Parts: sequence; C-alpha cells; structure tokens
Amino acid sequence: MTTTEPATVAQPRTGGSDVEHVDVLVVGAGVSGIDAAYHLRERFPERSFVVLDAQDDRGGTWWTHRYPGVRSDSDLFTYGYRFKPWRGPSIAAGSEILAYLDEVIDENDLARHIRYRHRVTAASWSTEDRRWNVTVTRVDTGEQLRFTTDFLWMCQGYYNHAEPYRPRWEGVDRFQGVVVHPQAWPEDLDYAGKRVVVIGSGSTASTLIPAIAKEAEHVTMLQRSPSYYFAPPVTHELAVTLRQLDIPEEWTHEILRRAYVKQFNELARMSFEAPDALHALLIESMRPLLPEGFDIEKHFTPRYRPWQQRIAIVPEGDLFAALREGKASIVTDTIETFTETGIRVGSGEEIAADVVVTATGFNLSAFGDVAFTVDGEPVDFPERVTWRGIMITGVPNMAYVFGYFRHSWTLRADLVSDLVCRLFETMEAKGTTMVVPTLRPEDAGMQLRPWSDPENFNPGYVLRSQHVLFKQGDREPWTHMLEHEQEQELLPKADLDDGSLVYR
Ligand SMILES: Cc1cc2nc3c(=O)[nH]c(=O)nc-3n(C[C@H](O)[C@H](O)[C@H](O)COP(=O)(O)OP(=O)(O)OC[C@H]3O[C@@H](n4cnc5c(N)ncnc54)[C@H](O)[C@@H]3O)c2cc1C
Repeated sequence: MTTTEPATVAQPRTGGSDVEHVDVLVVGAGVSGIDAAYHLRERFPERSFVVLDAQDDRGGTWWTHRYPGVRSDSDLFTYGYRFKPWRGPSIAAGSEILAYLDEVIDENDLARHIRYRHRVTAASWSTEDRRWNVTVTRVDTGEQLRFTTDFLWMCQGYYNHAEPYRPRWEGVDRFQGVVVHPQAWPEDLDYAGKRVVVIGSGSTASTLIPAIAKEAEHVTMLQRSPSYYFAPPVTHELAVTLRQLDIPEEWTHEILRRAYVKQFNELARMSFEAPDALHALLIESMRPLLPEGFDIEKHFTPRYRPWQQRIAIVPEGDLFAALREGKASIVTDTIETFTETGIRVGSGEEIAADVVVTATGFNLSAFGDVAFTVDGEPVDFPERVTWRGIMITGVPNMAYVFGYFRHSWTLRADLVSDLVCRLFETMEAKGTTMVVPTLRPEDAGMQLRPWSDPENFNPGYVLRSQHVLFKQGDREPWTHMLEHEQEQELLPKADLDDGSLVYR
C-alpha cells in the first residue's frame, strides 16, 4: 500500500500560520482509528478530521507484528467491522487483516484523512479556547507541528509499538547467536536449518512456533509457566454451509458474528461460573492432539483460572502437530543464564540455540505516552476515574478506545464509535462545545478500584503498569472491562444526561 501524504484533509482550517485546526483529531490508524474515521465520515461528513499515526503505514498491531505466521486469534467475523463483511476463513493471517483494512480505507475514501509518521507528544486543553492544542513530531524529519482540535479521539491501543518488553537476562551479552523480538522481526532473519528457542508461552509463541518449525532444524518453546490453548478449526462449518447456499456475504457475516459472540459469551460465562469445568474442557480437548505420554500436567496446566489471561488460539492444533512431528518441543523452567551457545535453565539443562526469539510481551503504554494537561495542570491519570471505559474524569472532549480481552477488540471499537457519535449529537442538540465526565454528589465516597482487578484479568503487562493507570469505581457509569454481553445492551442505551457528563 502506498502511504502518500494527502494533499488535503476535509476542509481543515488554519488556526494561525503554523497551526492546523480540525474538528476531530484521531490518534492511531489501527483497527480502532480506522473504525473511528469510518464513523466520522458516515455520521458527520461535514466535520473535518485527521488520523495521525506514528508508524509509516496503517494497521497498528498488524503493521508492527509481521513475524512468520502472524495471525488473529479471534475470528474475523467479530474482529472485522460490523459494517464490512469478512469473506475469508475465520482465522486470518496478519497480511489478510491489513488487506481488509486497505479495502475499508479505499471504499470509504479515508486515505486522505490519514497522516503517517506523525507522533502526538502532547495535548493541552484550554477551557477558554474550548479546544485542544496538540503537539506532533514528524518521525521522519523531526519537525514539530501544531494542531488544534475540538475533540480528541484516542485510538492508540495499549502498548508501546516502538519498545517491546525485553527482560534483562543474565549472560545475554555473551550469547553468540541472534536474539530477536517478534515486535521488531528482521525481514531477512534466516532461521532455516537453525536451532531456535522461543521464550514465552501464549499467543505469539504458539503462533510463531509452528510457522518457524517448517524450516528450522528444531524449535524449543521455553516457558516459565503454561498457558491455556484452544484449537478451533480455521473455517467455521456454518460459513461453509452458508457460502454453498450462495447467501449474501452481509448475511453470512452477521450470522457468523452472532454464532461466535454466542460461543464466546458462553466461554466467558463458564470461566466465571464453572472455572474448573472449563479448565478440564480445555485440557481434555488438547490431550488427543498431543504426542503419546506427553507431560500435560507440567507443560499445559496453567496456575491461573481460564480467561484470567487470554486463551491462546492454535487453529487446527498446529502447535500440537509440530510437537507430534518432533519439530518442536517444550521446556517449562526458569532461565538461569544465557551461555555462548544457548540458554541454561534452572534444572541445569542447557538448550542449544542459534536464534532466540523473546516472545515476552509488551510494555503497556497509557494513551500513547501523550503528555496531557487541562488548563495548564498535568493530568494525573492514577487519580482519575473512567467513565464507562470511554472517557476520563476531568478530561474534557476526549474519548478513548479500549477493546475486549475475552471477545474481539473490534466489537467494542464499534460500540464506542456509536456512543461517541451519539455524544456529538447530544452536544449539538444542547448547543454546547464541552463535555467533562465528573463525579456526582451521589458518587462521593465511591470505592475506587484498580484499572484491572487481578482476579478478573492479570497478564504481566497489566500488572506491571497498574500504578500509572486510571481507576474505576464500583458502580455505573464508572466501571469498565465489562463483558460484551452486558455492554451490547448497556452502551447503546447509556444515559448521556444522568449528571455524570457535565456539558458546558
Ligand atoms: C500479535 C497480536 C495479535 C492480536 N490478535 C488479536 C485478536 O485476534 N483479537 C483481538 O481482539 N485482539 C488481538 N490483539 C490485540 C490487538 O492489539 C487489538 O485487537 C487491536 O489491534 C488494537 O487496535 P487499536 O487500533 O486499538 O490499537 P493498535 O493496533 O495498537 O494501534 C494503535 C496505533 O496508534 C499509534 N499510536 C500510538 N500512540 C501514538 C501517538 N502518541 N501518536 C501517534 N500515533 C500513536 C500506533 O503507532 C499504532 O499504529 C492482538 C495483539 C497482538 C500484538
């Protein structure tokens, strides 16, 4: 895809010789930012907007992660947008997701709104001017740009795209082989015929291993502790049936969305109501796919409840096939030290390696590391409370998108877009230009809880960063991370006039 700079952006106004004004400024051109842009164009064609992204192309996560085999672990009927039918198999390669996003951009004439290599570094709200002043650095030239905007729509995702999480291991400097992180995969990395160690369990490791195992001499998955896996078919049989009947793609998309939503609602419900039964179901469904006598207890029995961390999807059980074929193996142990030729683990065993892949996850990034101020005061996010996981107390005219953990991210991006559009309509109807989530008198004394309850969801990147994140309350509309089943009822009906949003 070409990434030419757009000549014009829907009628931007200049707010001074070097300042560009847009009605809405979207940060991030990933799945969420493209969703926001689509809704703005559909619902408010008269409003000007730009989408700024620090990277040099669209896709966010799918542009950053281009390691061998990269794919979704959600089905694309729900990971795809409500408004754009998915025509492929349920589980899609990263390149297929990028192609789908390209179609959305082309079909909706969004390219001219998107500017790449623009990193937003600061956003300052001025109540006097009723707008945000946004500072942007051109990643390619270092040039500083200024924008003003009436509304900031933060679609920056949840992790630092430039700096992955790389724990420091002892001895890593003396290792003679190559160390790579999946978030920064070198295009020319040659692993054919090599011994590869992948550090990590979970989605990235389990995606990479079968893909690399085809060419590598051997791949060892080195995990400190096991994760849950689920091995669905790549294609849903219902999709095959409907397509054979020549049903319109829009119908197939909607029917499959409902089927997957139902399935994942049931899994989410079961994880709360019958965690032991779900645990047993997941473990037992793996057993026939693993080699005879495989130590499931040691390598595949997590210490946490299903869904307290994401369940890794292994379509058609491809990870297990690599284990059966002897192309891959698993070591569950701690790393003692890197050596010149590999990694020595707690048991004293040394795993020889030419290439080490550190599938160790992310550094969480709160609001794209943008420095926020409101009327000259820095926004102290850990002291703030979320409004429905969409806005933040005391921060005017700013919405953010955070998707689901137990369902496809995009299901929530679509719901948030609807709500933000409804908020714009409400403001228009009231003739106001400012909206600020504010705790009401009846919220005084409300118990504040951490961003994520570790009982509910506790992956490493969340636990490492709780202290920099905002809080949630114990009642609506101050809660977040609700299940999709609840939110698809709640959000479309959410009362925007219950006093928790102050319009000025
Ligand atoms: C390998 C992988 C597979 C995944 N698979 C799934 C899946 O199958 N299903 C699922 O639901 N979720 C999945 N996820 C989670 C995934 O991140 C979300 O699904 C989704 O892609 C998030 O989209 P987003 O647009 O909100 O954020 P991102 O994809 O993170 O994109 C955010 C964009 O904002 C830009 N940005 C951030 N800060 C700034 C700034 N200050 N200035 C300018 N630009 C900025 C970034 O450069 C980036 O391009 C996966 C994650 C990974 C890493």
